[in-house]
Amino acid sequence: MTQASSRPVVEGIGSMPPLVGDKGTARDESRFFAREGVPPLSHAFARKIAVHPGLGGGRVAPEEMGSFMDSLLDQERKGRSVAYIHVPFCRTHCLFCGFYKKKYHKDESRLYTNAVIAEMELWRGRKTLESGPVHALYLGGGTPTELEPEDILRLLKAARRILPLANDCEITVEGRLSNFDARKMEACLEGGANRFSLGVQSFHTDIRRAMGRLGTREEMVRGLEQLLAYGHAAVIVDLIYGFPGQTIERWREDIAVAQSLKLDGADCYQLNVYKDSPLGQGIERGNITPAADLPQQSAMFAAGVEAMTQAFYRRLSISHWARTPRERNLYNLYAKGDAHCLAFGPGAGGNVQGVFYINNGDYTAWMQAVQSGVKPWVMAVRPRPRHALFKALAEGMEQGGLDLADLEKNFGVPVQDSCQPLLRQWHDVGLVNWEEGRLVLTLAGQFWQVNLSQLLQEYLEMQLENAEHETA
Ligand code: SF4
Repeated sequence: MTQASSRPVVEGIGSMPPLVGDKGTARDESRFFAREGVPPLSHAFARKIAVHPGLGGGRVAPEEMGSFMDSLLDQERKGRSVAYIHVPFCRTHCLFCGFYKKKYHKDESRLYTNAVIAEMELWRGRKTLESGPVHALYLGGGTPTELEPEDILRLLKAARRILPLANDCEITVEGRLSNFDARKMEACLEGGANRFSLGVQSFHTDIRRAMGRLGTREEMVRGLEQLLAYGHAAVIVDLIYGFPGQTIERWREDIAVAQSLKLDGADCYQLNVYKDSPLGQGIERGNITPAADLPQQSAMFAAGVEAMTQAFYRRLSISHWARTPRERNLYNLYAKGDAHCLAFGPGAGGNVQGVFYINNGDYTAWMQAVQSGVKPWVMAVRPRPRHALFKALAEGMEQGGLDLADLEKNFGVPVQDSCQPLLRQWHDVGLVNWEEGRLVLTLAGQFWQVNLSQLLQEYLEMQLENAEHETA
């Protein structure tokens, strides 16, 4: 998995592991407002906050889980839809990763593939699976490219057979370039993959080594060139800024190497230091140099935006950039919004009819459930009030702006009046602008996008609740 600052996760959709500095949220209204009299890019807020999964609609009681979820599967699925298959294995644990779950063993490839195909089969014949096209399929992890070539092919073929994929479905295989040889690349292509999202993170061999990444800069470049030469799929890399010891010059070099390869796109993510990751622990114990602080991160973010803009990359979202029309980034964009997400695999998190669910993250328990013909759900949360409004808001912020009048028209809620004091303050400190009636994030606002998105949702929710209480 990439270590995306804005990536929705419980392997698919959901909450992030705790970041260093996370203190939870308080219902103190002043926390919504940005600091004044400071440079907004580097100091608008005291810290970055983690993506909030947008739960809050009430957890389904464990004893009702089975029947509740089962009844959902009889409902027609309409609108945008994605599917996610979680592959939980990694060859090694990258130091910065807060998502590592299970060491890869070759023997596990066949057993896992059998089980996840069986899990998809459990949904067969149900309206939620069969009723509408799926617009993006994502094999994520973990490291899907660790699987053996014959299992990659079986898994992709099964997904295409079982899931009603749209004719122009984006089919992404996420992974690493190390241990991704020609046999595996060709298995992905034969299986119909049309997009690769590869976690390079840094081309600097010393930074890679220090962060526990396998492979050298030369091996990364060779692998990408090999994949591009097939000409069958979009090739995207993830890069990360803010590693310990990574200067802004070295970050610019990473971007320059990626650009020189003429890839279809590149994603620039900020390093998140998760409390329980080896990096978080190493820094806390003083064994590892601290990662970039907020002013350094914000300068690197600005340098990334400048480099991608100057090279005429098209911005798809705050972190995603396309060089060619082949890169659409559909899965990531749709999953941020109100798309249905049919999720399979241990620990995978999905969303059906607005209900968020999580599969059992215990690998053995997940496998036993699936082998006994039982769907491996362990938690479901009903949508919170105005779920679709908040999803639309989060999706817009992810893309750098909001048409508030349009939101009001679509959802019948006074968004502008309710949020006016907050948006005015954010405007005055330089985080947002108004352009042709749209709220647009400035460069500083883009850096703080996750904070702004989360805070705006919470503020709006609070104002709407207050208004309801006053009229009750
Ligand atoms: S490959 Fe590394 S970054 Fe990706 S999920 Fe595994 S441990 Fe995490």
